[in-house]
Formats: sequence, structure tokens, C-alpha cells
Amino acid sequence: MTQASGTRDGLEGVETRLFIGGTWRDADDAGTIDVLDPADGSVLASVADGGTADAMAALDAAADAQAAWSATPPRERGELLRAAYELVAQRADQFARVISLEMGKPLAEAKGEVTYGNEFLRWFSEEAVRVHGRWMENPVGGSRMLTMKKPVGPCLFITPWNFPLAMGTRKIGPALAAGCTVVIKPASQTPLTMLLLAQVLEEVGVPAGVVNVVTTSSSREVGAALMADPRLRKVSFTGSTEVGRGLIGQSAEHLQRISMELGGNAPFLVFEDADLDAAVEGAMVAKMRNMGEACTAANRFLVHESVAEEFGRRLAERMSGLTVGRGQDDGVDVGPLINAEAVESVGALVSEAVEEGARVLVGGKPAEGPGWFFPPTVLVDVPAEATINRHEIFGPVAPITTFSTEEEAVAAANSSEYGLVAYAYTRDLTRSLRVSEALAFGMVGLNTGIVSNAAAPFGGVKASGFGREGGFEGIEEYLDTTYVAIPL
Ligand code: NAP
Repeated sequence: MTQASGTRDGLEGVETRLFIGGTWRDADDAGTIDVLDPADGSVLASVADGGTADAMAALDAAADAQAAWSATPPRERGELLRAAYELVAQRADQFARVISLEMGKPLAEAKGEVTYGNEFLRWFSEEAVRVHGRWMENPVGGSRMLTMKKPVGPCLFITPWNFPLAMGTRKIGPALAAGCTVVIKPASQTPLTMLLLAQVLEEVGVPAGVVNVVTTSSSREVGAALMADPRLRKVSFTGSTEVGRGLIGQSAEHLQRISMELGGNAPFLVFEDADLDAAVEGAMVAKMRNMGEACTAANRFLVHESVAEEFGRRLAERMSGLTVGRGQDDGVDVGPLINAEAVESVGALVSEAVEEGARVLVGGKPAEGPGWFFPPTVLVDVPAEATINRHEIFGPVAPITTFSTEEEAVAAANSSEYGLVAYAYTRDLTRSLRVSEALAFGMVGLNTGIVSNAAAPFGGVKASGFGREGGFEGIEEYLDTTYVAIPL
């Protein structure tokens, strides 16, 4: 079973087994999980369905490899990451095709994910050699303080289906650079991309046991078994707030360090002085990237009442020009959603918004099957308190609500329990800075619809979680500090 069992072009040579201790093998009980094509529901491939015995074998391998990996010179660790970056770049087309097939996004967007996701391998290959502590004089004199950084130890990574490569490399890059070994549990809907990445890491010579991948349909059991083991020292999770809360609870027993990249409900503010062309352009990116299935997706459009009508009309015009279809077909802008439940949940939010007073300018109803498609949709006259404004939509729907003052806009933006990212469009420099400071979010896109960048600290506040991925901050999540007091 070294090759994806589906016959779909682009899956040749992609592993479907577990990767544990440098060996590819079937699940202990030989079970498998079907990976479906969201464009028609057909089976793309079957991957190993690991259980708790497999997960514990993966943790054994990670724990055994930890000491040697942390003792490997930082330059060597960095060079292995750099080699992985080069190989992923060479195989960008293959990665993009696998991502597009299992997740649904259009090929062009999948290529964008490969470029973005791969940057974390490059960035952290460079950061591996910049980990250092400090030497400091005691403020009252008489002694010195030395601090040193050490890898936290074996990590567990649990990743979602929406960015199957990038959500993994954001964690693997800094962990390996810091000297940690890892067990990765990718989303069961999109496991193939992570298996392909593990093949690359193996090929460039990352030592056995440093990276282990366990695909499973028993996420809860596997996660709980791993976290019940005190050898596991760190958990980094990207996914829903609900699951994140449970994992935070589980981490209490052994006080594992945790990073949580959770849900979002991004407001997209358009002030009366905004450049409307730029705002519509930014709205298209912030809303439609990944069919709206992104934690950073603009979820609530808050538009000044004097420009709301024009903004809505122009956005609806652009949305109605998009082509919906299978992600691998030419000319497709919008692929399918991940599954039938996603279509149902997006449809229900739209229907409820209409009942609450919203008007549909374009889209609004799920497309006929096969596949799980929802058309680009623009809703206007959405009441501020509408249900859709309080829920993460995770689909191609743009609800527009108006405001009349800056204070009202900021208060509405901050009224969510989430705090991942906010977008703001204004040409007034003072307002830009005032609003950026007042927004209770981990990230702000100022006159831009895209914030993600491997060199920047990605992460949220409030129910969007804590910890940062990328930037100089990213590697800190994988380092402990030891302070040494030295009388002189
Ligand atoms: P999810 O249901 O929370 O699943 C995420 C991952 O957790 C999957 O690998 C899943 O495995 C696993 N999982 C589910 N229940 C678990 C449990 N009890 N114990 C251990 N692992 C468990 O989220 P999703 O629906 O895949 O992803 C969408 C969510 O992710 C959205 O809320 C989105 O905003 C968020 N997200 C956040 C960011 C960010 O950086 N802030 C980025 C992307 C997505 P299975 O696949 O087997 O269920």
C-alpha cells in the first residue's frame, strides 16, 4: 500500500501508511479511512486508520529520538529544513494537486498554499541558528544572570483540513528548528498532503523518529492517550475553539505547554474615507480565499452607511463573476466545501439571516449535487445582531451590516468572543492607527485583505486562542528557558 489506492491522477506515489520511527507501516489493526473528493464524494484513496497503540508507538519513537535531535547542531537542523523547502518547491505542482484533490480548493489557490506553507520551512531553517539566551548583570550588583534556551521536548500537532500543508509546516518548521521531535495527527479528511510532506522530510534525511505521522479516525482517543503520557511536553492545535477547550483541559494533568490557533469571526471594516476599489479587492481576497473556509476569512462586513450600498453592489458584481466547479478544472475560482454538513450549515446561516431581515444580492442557495458546492453569496441589510454575524460561516458568504460612527464600528467589531484577525479600510492615517490599536484582535489587516506571512506572528486573542506561529515569536513556542544565578 505504498501508493494511494485511488486511481486519480496526481496521487501516484503518495504514501497512505503511518510513518513511525522512520518506517512506513499499516495500522496495528489494519483499518483504513477513506479520503473523499469533495467535488463528487468519490473515494480518492484509503489511508491507514491508526489507533492508540500506533499513536503510542509514534510517541515512543519521538521520545527516543529527542535527545539526539536536540544535540544535533542547529546548523544541521536548519539545513535539513532548507533541503525540505527546496524539495517541496521542486514538487510544488504535485503538492498543489494533492491539496486540491483532497481539500477541494482551486489549483491556483493550492499552489498559493504550497508557496505560503513552504515559507515556514525556509523561515525556520534560518531561525534554527538564532536561538540564544543572555548574560546579564544583577541590577543590584554582585552576581550575574545567565539564561539558556532548550527544546521543550516531544510535541503533538493536531491540524485541520482547510490548509493541509501550511497548518503543518507552521508547527513542524519551528519545532524541528528548536530541536523538538514531533507526532503529527492531520485531519482525517485531508491526510494525504501531510503524508507527502513526511515523504519529503524522510527523503532529505530527517532522522528516524524526529517526525512521525499518525492518521486516524479516532482523534479523540488518540489525542487523549498521547496527552496522558508525561513524555509528551507540548501540544500545538489548530482547529475549532470547542475542541481546543477540551485539549486545554486535558493538558492540565501533565502541564503540557500548549499553543491554540482556534476559530475566528473576522470583521472587515470599511470607513467612509476608504478607497472603495481597494476595499472591494481586499474583500474578495479576505472572503473568498479557500472558499471562505479559513479562520482568517472576513466573516462580518461592517460598512459605513454612506458607502454601504455601493460597496455591496460592487462586491456582488465581482462575486457573481466567479466560476464555481471542481478545483482541478481550468478557470475555476471557487471549489466545493469540505462536506455535506458544511453546505448545510452555511445554507442554514443564510436562511436565518434572511428571516432576520437580510436581502440576498447574489447566490444564497446550495448548488445541486453531486459534490458539496455553495455559490458566492452577498447579503445586505443584515441586522447587527443577526445570527450569521455571531457565527464563523466557513463558506463563501459575505453579510454586510452598516454603521454610522467609528466608535460604533469598533465596538461592533470587538463584540465577538473571537479575536483572531480584523481588517480595516480607511485612508486616514490617524484613524488607521487609532482603530488598529482599539481592535481586540491578534492581527489587523490595514488596507489589505491578507495578513498571513511566515515572517509575521500569526495568532489570536480571546476565544481565538494563544501562542504565535511564524515570525521571531514562532520558535519561542518550542523553547523552555533555564536561568542560572552566578555569584561573582
Ligand atoms: P476541528 O473539528 O476542531 O478539527 C481539527 C483537528 O482536530 C482535526 O485533526 C480533528 O481530527 C482533530 N480533533 C477533533 N476532535 C478532537 C479531539 N476531541 N481530540 C483531539 N483531536 C481532535 O476543526 P475543523 O473543523 O477541522 O477546522 C475548522 C476550524 O479550525 C475552524 O474553527 C477554523 O477557524 C479553525 N482554524 C483555525 C486556524 C487558526 O490558525 N486560528 C487555522 C485554520 C483553521 P478529525 O479530522 O479526525 O476530526
